[in-house]
Amino acid sequence: MTEKQCEICGAEISGSPQKIVIDRSTMEVCKSCARFGKPEDKWTPVPRKMVPVERAFTVMRPKPRDQFKDLVELVPDFGRKIREAREGLGLTPEQLGARIKEKATLLKKIEREDISPEDDVRKKLERELKIKLTDQASEAQVKSGGSGRGLTLGDIANIKRK
Ligand SMILES: [Zn+2]
Repeated sequence: MTEKQCEICGAEISGSPQKIVIDRSTMEVCKSCARFGKPEDKWTPVPRKMVPVERAFTVMRPKPRDQFKDLVELVPDFGRKIREAREGLGLTPEQLGARIKEKATLLKKIEREDISPEDDVRKKLERELKIKLTDQASEAQVKSGGSGRGLTLGDIANIKRK
């Protein structure tokens, strides 16, 4: 047994003793006494150059609805509009489908608003049924002006009068 005792507190040192320097003399001490001196050999743990791996935040941001940028706004009740226009013409979905070369099942789904018509289907429906399926609200808002309106001819006339 080469059990060593701490030179400071006398406790048995389990494992390798800590060599410390106190007043230029080296002592073998237990771990808890090691704090009383300085490490013997210049055991300055050279901080290895821990180049901080910069967290490459290359998380791809989800593109902000890029895929919708060309999508025109459908009127909210496009299904009803289509059905009413179709019925107004006295056409069955099958007959309408034959006219625009689309499946009747597709038209039924569109009329139930299960799906939105693709652009080309929508255009064919608009042409065939003579309806508008796109939302014109934004355009109408621009035209009507609203509260934040700019100068109107009337305003300009008022200014001139002053
Ligand atoms: Zn000790």
